[in-house]
Amino acid sequence: MVATVSLDAILHKHRIRPEIQALQTELVQWRRNFHQKPELAFKENLTAEFIAQKLTELGIDHQTGVAQTGIVALIEGKGKGKVLGIRADMDALPIQEENEVEYRSQHDGIMHACGHDGHVAIALGAAKYLSEHRDFNGTVKIIFQPAEESPGGAKPMIEEGVLKNPDVDAIIGLHLWNNLPLGTVGVRPGALMAAAETFYLRVQGKGGHGALPHQTIDPIVVGSHIVTALQTLVSRTVNPIDAAVVTVGEFKSGRAHNVVADFAELSGTVRYFNPELRELGDRLSKVVNGICQSYGATYELDYIRMYPPTINDPAIAALVKTIAEETIETPLGVVPECQTMGSEDMAFFLQEVPGCYFFLGSANPHQDLAYPHHHPRFNFDETALGMGVEMFVRCVEKFLA
Ligand code: MN
Repeated sequence: MVATVSLDAILHKHRIRPEIQALQTELVQWRRNFHQKPELAFKENLTAEFIAQKLTELGIDHQTGVAQTGIVALIEGKGKGKVLGIRADMDALPIQEENEVEYRSQHDGIMHACGHDGHVAIALGAAKYLSEHRDFNGTVKIIFQPAEESPGGAKPMIEEGVLKNPDVDAIIGLHLWNNLPLGTVGVRPGALMAAAETFYLRVQGKGGHGALPHQTIDPIVVGSHIVTALQTLVSRTVNPIDAAVVTVGEFKSGRAHNVVADFAELSGTVRYFNPELRELGDRLSKVVNGICQSYGATYELDYIRMYPPTINDPAIAALVKTIAEETIETPLGVVPECQTMGSEDMAFFLQEVPGCYFFLGSANPHQDLAYPHHHPRFNFDETALGMGVEMFVRCVEKFLA
């Protein structure tokens, strides 16, 4: 955990150009508009409508309805050059907001509890600035993506050709990050976030009387052996230099103290940074198979590879790090060791083209803006919005110099 920087230090030292500082009021308005009208995966209709309307007002070329609710905007620079993608996710979460702010969610049971409302505002702010200051050579393609929280909008957007015509040479994106204080940027080469895989397992035993276990196949005993054996996947088969997690989050079975249950249902998550650890899923399935066989149980295993690890290109990550050092001059500034076992479907874009995803510190404990992501009281310091626009604009200016 990182120590807190005083707010004064941040406000005096971050280097946001006056034209972007002047956007701050509008950025906050946009963000609060999205915050009040949060929408779940692939239902970001009001969000998309608002974005499209702003882009039209700004005279920015754009295409709507990409992967249902996604939008792709194109901004040409003054000269020819490469194409840089900027990605912003748009969706909210099925959470009832507990913040008592005047811009709290008006949609019952839905909340922007991960900061994607801010991501859209930042991307729109960058679009506005860049369309009015085309001091770059090449094209900026801004990708407003649905459904990050699941099932994932990046992959369907890629399948619909979002990285083609014009072909994207590199892509950047950011996540407002309450694990870091305002006035910091977390960026590193290589894996920033983990792969996320889920498994659902049903162990089928043979139920019976609790006093006559020899006539049964006890799925609780079989399941327990599986849970214990899965603990050795990471500890005994993964190089200790590589980080990985296998968590069994659910184990449901049985209904009475003196009855051997018929079946047990387990589910869990597997996380890792190194793409080679994709084989963990195969090992898990062998463990399940071996244990079930040895006890005479049968099973059904569903193993779902949701998101791969989010892996930054070393050269582009170095560029973003330099830009962050130039922009965010606070005592903590750039946090290069930043890494999390959380996951992101930005990973799919980064599998297709080189790029960099980074964290923009947004917590401000002095204003009670430090709850973790996905918490019903999550909120962030909106000062970060202008910082995000400045970061994106500088990335464009450097990458498309
Ligand atoms: Mn998120």
